[in-house]
Amino acid sequence: MAYAIISRKNWGARAPRSRYTVTWSQRTEFFVHHTAGPKTQTVKAIQAYHLDGNGWSDVGYNFLVDELGTIYEGRGWCVVGAHCPDHNTSGESVAYIGDDNPTEAAKQAIAWLYGEASRRAGRTLRLLGHGDRYATDCPGPRLQAWVNAGMPLKTATPKPKPFDPSEALVKKLPTLRKGDKGWHVKTVHYLLLARDYGGLDGADDTTFTEAHKAGVQGLQAAAGLKQDGVVGPLTWPVLLRIA
Ligand SMILES: [Zn+2]
Repeated sequence: MAYAIISRKNWGARAPRSRYTVTWSQRTEFFVHHTAGPKTQTVKAIQAYHLDGNGWSDVGYNFLVDELGTIYEGRGWCVVGAHCPDHNTSGESVAYIGDDNPTEAAKQAIAWLYGEASRRAGRTLRLLGHGDRYATDCPGPRLQAWVNAGMPLKTATPKPKPFDPSEALVKKLPTLRKGDKGWHVKTVHYLLLARDYGGLDGADDTTFTEAHKAGVQGLQAAAGLKQDGVVGPLTWPVLLRIA
């Protein structure tokens, strides 16, 4: 899925004190951080802390993601950040708002941002945790391990296959060939008649005869099956007109 990024205007960002842009050709890395603060902290509050507490020119990160997987524009795609010394020009950055144990929704959003950054850069950016390039506890052991593992995501649980009564029926039917006798041969006999097969005049309806075999081979030919004249799991559905 694609994400709508909450713009600076929409979260009520203050104007940056200064702003330096980079080109995508200068971007080679993608950094994952965490804010190590409460997961309820607003982007506005984080920006205020970076502006007024740290004296930075703006919120430090290029993007922020909350526990619901909402993506907020920090400095934005092609702006030099303040998130990792010596890597603010080369590195795009995202911070998870909270500790080092993001929700699956947040992980999905972070992984999407990484893919989107690589797509915009036109190449796969090197994926890093803050701790890979700076002596810091950020983004914490669990988030760092997830990043180092290549950001694996839980795939949706596969839906159980819906019950198919025709499949269940076919599984119960015996494989029949020339010479076989019995009740199910009658089924083949009358299904062939029902399919307007005219070669059964005078044929015994309880024995699988050469005439039955020829009729089955005709159906198999029309269905693109091997023409062995044997009524098995592939031919039964054709005979029953459920395939
Ligand atoms: Zn960090």
